[in-house]
Formats: sequence, C-alpha cells, structure tokens
Amino acid sequence: MKILDIQNLKTYYSTFKGDVMAVDDVRLQMDRGEALGLVGESGCGKTTLALAIMRLLPWNGRIVEGKIKLDDVDIISLDEKTFDKDYRWKKMSYIFQGAMNALNPVFKVGDQIAEAITIHEDVEKKEALERARELFELVGIDPERVISYPHELSGGMKQRAMIAMALACNPDFIIADEPTTALDVIVQAQTLKVINDLQKKLGLTMILITHDLSVVAQTCTTCAIMYAGNIVEYADIETIFKDPVHPYTQALISAFPSIKEDRRELKSIAGVPPNLLDPPTGCRFNPRCPNRMDVCTKEKPEYTELSDNHLASCHLLTKEA
Ligand code: SF4
Repeated sequence: MKILDIQNLKTYYSTFKGDVMAVDDVRLQMDRGEALGLVGESGCGKTTLALAIMRLLPWNGRIVEGKIKLDDVDIISLDEKTFDKDYRWKKMSYIFQGAMNALNPVFKVGDQIAEAITIHEDVEKKEALERARELFELVGIDPERVISYPHELSGGMKQRAMIAMALACNPDFIIADEPTTALDVIVQAQTLKVINDLQKKLGLTMILITHDLSVVAQTCTTCAIMYAGNIVEYADIETIFKDPVHPYTQALISAFPSIKEDRRELKSIAGVPPNLLDPPTGCRFNPRCPNRMDVCTKEKPEYTELSDNHLASCHLLTKEA
C-alpha cells in the first residue's frame, strides 16, 4: 500500500479577478521511505500542493476536487479536530521555508518544541523538554541550547531546530519546503546532510520542495517535475537526470551546471510560467516549448507510463509531429 496517494487534486485560490488554478489535476503516489524531490520554477504550485496535503491552505485557498490519502485514509474528508489530533505533527509534519522567521522570537526554542509535543501527546512539560533535548542531539545541536532564544542561534542552527520541531511527535511523513533557502552554501550543504541522514535513519517518507535540481540529486530517490499546477514528469532520480522526456524537465536540466559532464553551455528557459488565473489551453507549457505541435494548444496531454517508475505527460510521447 502506498503511504501517500493523491488523486486528481485541484486546489484553487479565490481572488478578486477569479480563481487561480494553482494545483490542477495532480496525481502522485509515494512508497514508504521514498524521498521525493518536488521541483519547478517559482509559482508552479509546489508549496500550494504541500499546504493542501497538510491542510494548511490560507483563507482564500480551497481544495476543489480530488483525494489525498495517507495510509489509505482520505485526510481531506476528516474533520479538523480529528486531523489535528491524529495526523498533523503525529503522522505528518512540515519544515517551513525561512527558518529565520519561523520560530517565535520571545520564547526559548526548547519550550516551543516542548509545546508542540504537549499539545499533541499526553506528556508533562518536563518529559517534553527532555524529548526536545534528544531531538537537538539528533539534528546535531548541543542539547544545552534548548534554553536559547531564536536570536541566540545561527541561521543553520535555527533551521536544524525547525527540523527537530517537525520531528517532535515522531511523524512517518514530512514535507520540507525549500529548507535551505536563505542559508549560505556551506550551511546549506550541512543542513541537507542532516535531512538526508535523518530521512534514512528514521525511514521517513519525505517530499523535498526546491527549485534547485542539485539539492534533489543529493537528497532524493525520486523526482516529480511540476509546471503551472501540473506534475509533468515523475521518475527515479537517475532517469530524471539521464533520460528526461518532457521538454520542461529537459530545459530545467540544461539550465543547471554539472560537475560530472564535459563543460557545456547553460541554457535559460525562455519566457515565464503562465498566469494561473488564465492558463494556456492544451499543454500549459506550450507557449515556451521548443517542440510545440498544433495539438499542444488544443488538447491537454495524458500521462504516458514509460516504465514502472517513469511517467510523463507530453504529446511527443503519443502523437506524430
Ligand atoms: Fe511541448 Fe507539446 Fe509536450 Fe507540451 S505537449 S511539452 S507543448 S511537445
């Protein structure tokens, strides 16, 4: 059984100008222990998908259609109290973007982690604080620092503290949303190593959201490429890098340097992602696609299964040019 099974998910934001179709007909399945990189340019719907899974959409966001099953339970249909008590933090949790601002500056970091534990589990504060110390040790921070305030920690330590908080109630499934944004490259590498080691050690199922393919290469076993609210290609990491079939995936890879290959020219992707208030008809990538055919502006491509672990949606796979 898949730990995560998302079927035909549509998530829209209401605005004065109409609905922004931020996630449109997403299907995604994950095996237990899988580390999936969710990749795409800014504004492609990655964070909206993650917030929909965690039921943390802002006030103007809503799930219009579809199912999100965790361990075969449709978590969208659960009432908020049950979801909050039994799922959020305990079975699934979230490492937020921007560790610098995610912690409350007026409380000690250990107290903030302990609070997350005492709200969701029947334990005394003393026991929760002891767990916070263990979690600090797990993520490589001196346990004595639980009494520090956020401003007394470096950026890397704050991000590790956020990781510790996400693990506070022993979830099986975590989403890390751009966890290394705003960190310098050295601290970024250290933080990714912590996430990678913990994912393997604890057998976590993880979605790592990023726009940086090199982060995915270091940390993930599979990759889903997202464009304009759709997942356009999904495969294991080796296939994504060696044999990408969707023109958007190919363009993303061409835009990144590789230290293993011969020197090659980096190519930027022409144009920008579409406005999802009024996305292009047919394939949403068609205005930017160098391989566009007539059919691409008229029909949305279906998924083609290229192998057990490789799916893509592009007319090139099914229609003659
Ligand atoms: Fe390009 Fe057409 Fe494939 Fe879309 S469906 S990626 S426009 S070739």
